[in-house]
Amino acid sequence: MNLSQTDLKYIWHPCSQMKDYEELPPIVIKRAKGVYLYDENDKSYMDIISSWWCNLLGHCNETINESIKAQLDKLEHVIFANFTHEGAIKLAHNLSQIVPKGLCKFNFSDNGSSSVESALKMSFQYHYQTNNPQKTRFMCLDDGYHGETIGALSVGAMDLYAKIYKPMLLDSIRIESPDCYRCKYGKTRQTCDAQCFESAKVAFEKYAKTTAAIIVEPLVQGAAGMKIYPSIYLKKLRKICDETNVILIADEIATGFGRTGKMFAFNHANVSPDIMVVSKGLTGGYMPMSITITTQKIYDAFYAPYNEGKAFMHSHTYSGNPLGCAAALGVLKVLKEQDILKNANVTAKYLNENLNLALKNHKNVGEIRSIGLINAIELVANKDKKIDFNPKDRVGYQIYKKALKNGLLLRPLGNVLYFNPPLNITKDEIDEAIKLCVKSMKEILE
Ligand SMILES: *Cc1c(COP(=O)(O)O)cnc(C)c1O
Repeated sequence: MNLSQTDLKYIWHPCSQMKDYEELPPIVIKRAKGVYLYDENDKSYMDIISSWWCNLLGHCNETINESIKAQLDKLEHVIFANFTHEGAIKLAHNLSQIVPKGLCKFNFSDNGSSSVESALKMSFQYHYQTNNPQKTRFMCLDDGYHGETIGALSVGAMDLYAKIYKPMLLDSIRIESPDCYRCKYGKTRQTCDAQCFESAKVAFEKYAKTTAAIIVEPLVQGAAGMKIYPSIYLKKLRKICDETNVILIADEIATGFGRTGKMFAFNHANVSPDIMVVSKGLTGGYMPMSITITTQKIYDAFYAPYNEGKAFMHSHTYSGNPLGCAAALGVLKVLKEQDILKNANVTAKYLNENLNLALKNHKNVGEIRSIGLINAIELVANKDKKIDFNPKDRVGYQIYKKALKNGLLLRPLGNVLYFNPPLNITKDEIDEAIKLCVKSMKEILE
């Protein structure tokens, strides 16, 4: 059986124009190890994007594998209302030691979007139950991405994902997002004092009274093209949320667990959100699991005699799934025992320096921006004027296809190429990735 052809007979792939598969059929992966995927013919692909940003510690990590295997023969699943199990308890305890201060209650879901839904509903209900029923709306940043279910799409602002569904969505308040590469205020990353926060201020003045919460991707707007903005923005946001009783939701689904060089992106700002959602790296990309983590204060607004009807009636069948918890416990074990963050910061510096050496002066590289191991290369048609390529030419996609031929999985966001590798990638692997990236770019752009 030709697996790739049979796949196309049945499967509708996520986030894909299926017609593109005529020309680029799905690649059948048979096994993976560390940063490498291997296809049916044993051709290797270096997975420099951590398979949709979730593969935190490499594929088939021994410690995580062991943790899941040990759990598998004990308990695969149990209803999580009224019942519990050791893995979930340990996981919540271990996370409570590393999350930003004040976050202490853990509500489990089974994917990123669902944890965002949970955060939105929790915020709404919190205000309803604390005598602020007029606080019903949500604020979000332009270019934000929080998942693709209806609530999550409503607070995402990217036309690519949301435009057609507009009539189905909540009417959220959109705030102009920081755009540091094309800063309107003429500042550089060094001189920035987040003047762009002004548009948040205007929105808060006008709408805070009726707003339940604001949700942000802290420091990195991932799907928007790994747009990176300074931590001072989060500090200002924390302050204005405190002043106006608006709940601050941190979507750390992509940034959590060391991606930005610190355990969570909010750590860079030295402030805590009121609600934080995590997924992706949480299980190292092994199992679908997410958690909405909040404060005692919010939790307490739901804590009452049953007949007052204040409970948070939100559930998912796979909430707190034991295999997911086992994977997550494996991840935390590796992070701790192998001093991953410290090492990752050394490799991050190496990656950024060498990427700059290789590409900074390239005629089509507008900017190389980085935080932690995340490095994004903004491709432009004209560097001085910062003019984009025509999206119709799909330059990023052409490079993607070329890179696949060359053995590199480098899936761009529009015309932004990026590296978001597992935290334990080695310097040798980085050298190879850069070499393959440069080669693939050259073959398309020259
Ligand atoms: C991936 C992602 C989500 C959605 O998570 P899913 O598990 O794909 O539903 C939400 N927010 C951010 C920042 C993400 O990167």
